[in-house]
Amino acid sequence: MQVSSFQPPPRTLMGPGPADVHPRVTAALARPTIGHLDPAFSAMMEELKGLLRYALRTDNPLTMPVSAPGSAGMETCFVNLVEPGDKVIVCSNGVFGGRMRENVVRCGGEAVVVADDWGRAVDPQKLEDALKAHPDAKLVACVHAETSTGACSDVKTLVELAHRHDCLTIVDAVTALGGSPLEVDAWGIDAVYAGSQKCLSCTPGLAPVSFSERALAKVTSRSTPVQSWFLDLNLVLGYWQGNDGGSSKRSYHHTAPVNALYGLHEALVMLAEEGIEQSWERHHRNHLALRAGLETLGLELVVPEAERLPQLNAVAVPGGVDEAAVRARLLDTYDLEIGAGLGALAGKVWRIGLMGYSSRPENILLCLGALGSVLNDMGHQADTGAALSAAQSMLAR
Ligand SMILES: *Cc1c(COP(=O)(O)O)cnc(C)c1O
Repeated sequence: MQVSSFQPPPRTLMGPGPADVHPRVTAALARPTIGHLDPAFSAMMEELKGLLRYALRTDNPLTMPVSAPGSAGMETCFVNLVEPGDKVIVCSNGVFGGRMRENVVRCGGEAVVVADDWGRAVDPQKLEDALKAHPDAKLVACVHAETSTGACSDVKTLVELAHRHDCLTIVDAVTALGGSPLEVDAWGIDAVYAGSQKCLSCTPGLAPVSFSERALAKVTSRSTPVQSWFLDLNLVLGYWQGNDGGSSKRSYHHTAPVNALYGLHEALVMLAEEGIEQSWERHHRNHLALRAGLETLGLELVVPEAERLPQLNAVAVPGGVDEAAVRARLLDTYDLEIGAGLGALAGKVWRIGLMGYSSRPENILLCLGALGSVLNDMGHQADTGAALSAAQSMLAR
């Protein structure tokens, strides 16, 4: 058999994730593997949990990375908090809200869906109406940053409403973490999950989660066992926390992805060095520059300004332009990846991500220059020079 090592092509990742991984993170991944119960590894894990608390703005003792991608973070929240027969209100305004509903049903729960248009934030009034109509609901679930559309929902208000009606809350912060203001404790979020590969500049495959004392009490007082062995927090806790709550008595549950965790640790050290608020600010500033350039190219963002995410920009494909052909040209000619639309927005938008290490001035200029030139080649008039100037003057502010 003729085989050779895999050499990935050099790409700039400006889609819905994964985002560009910082070289410091890839360097961390290459460090020697040690045992997952080695005291040095446990010390690194303790630090990592502290760094996650910093990033999520929480003091929750139960804050840790699940050894699997963001979807497993989602599943960890649902399988532990939903028991058969539980009624769960799911706010759905895109792909990930739909997956939350799917999770509820598979846990044997009853999902009440509060549907909003794709490309819009969740409407708090609709949630309030649903809470009044379903006083027996136990949980409310919502997505903070809906990556499938670029809409940001007002999680603080949604959580407040849920609590007023005695519901616990599950929040998807996969794309939000690091890119948009997120305050787990100040907003009172009960269970939150995130991902490593979006605004944290890390490789895919890990899902930070955090549970409040209230949420943990629900997990430990369940009347039925969690149907997933791997994600059952009652078991996972002995591994990440030790049975005494300290790391000294950690017992084997699964083999942690040791090197991947070095990578996440490095990414979080970098986030702490930058400062979480400064990271939010950088994502916002770069979004404004990209937006100025896109608008100068004659392109429009589909989400209303007040509901827009800085890290995921859904851009309307102009009439007469073949959206897939543009993406293929960007990838072939410029090694630049942007995303396609999904579901209700399939074929209608491009999704341009400015997440983590991808959220940099040089990426904005590369994207505007490449997109302008491809659009011109395809007969769609666009002033690329003016777009670059518009972005640059925004960046210079
Ligand atoms: C990417 C994403 C997920 C899923 O994360 P994976 O790492 O792909 O499993 C879940 N929710 C949102 C909002 C996402 O953007």
